[in-house]
Amino acid sequence: MKYGNIMPMKWSREQTDLLIKLFNEEKSMDEIADHLNALIDGTPGFRNKVTRSPKAIAMKLFRLGLISEERVEEWANETEELTKTQRKDKLRDEKNKVLKREEEKCAVCGKRGKLEFAHIVPFRRTKINYAKEAVALCHEDHLLFDEKNAFEVKKVYDHMCKKYSDYWKEYKLCEEYNQMTNKDKMWIGKK
Ligand SMILES: [Zn+2]
Repeated sequence: MKYGNIMPMKWSREQTDLLIKLFNEEKSMDEIADHLNALIDGTPGFRNKVTRSPKAIAMKLFRLGLISEERVEEWANETEELTKTQRKDKLRDEKNKVLKREEEKCAVCGKRGKLEFAHIVPFRRTKINYAKEAVALCHEDHLLFDEKNAFEVKKVYDHMCKKYSDYWKEYKLCEEYNQMTNKDKMWIGKK
């Protein structure tokens, strides 16, 4: 069994049911991925926000006995080119959204000019709600943020909380923030 040893990401009952339903409705891989990821994106709690790739979906269909092992690759690759282009377009749109939200200013120091996109959470989790998980920063602040400099991290976190009223709830578990020690948090709390 070629895929037998790969540890799958946990599928919730709801996700599995939706997958089976869409498969039975003969939806395309793109449609299935879109629907599933929309469901996952709407699930509260940061840790649930892991998107499903075509490959992961195909493997799940195989484990459910709905497609043969031979079909896994085919299914996963069927729309790969298309999704790559779509992904690119989507990313460009999302980056424009971030710039517009930030009024083309660095989120930490407010400087205008050449801005860079910083991922607040690891890139693998930013495939859907990019705008909410990315911030525009000047080069200097980007470097400090990536080094998890406590001041920068807190600034960005607070900035996002101001932009999105539900941010603190959803992104309470923001990894960068949680990697800070309590001492760090207290220190920046006083600043
Ligand atoms: Zn800056």
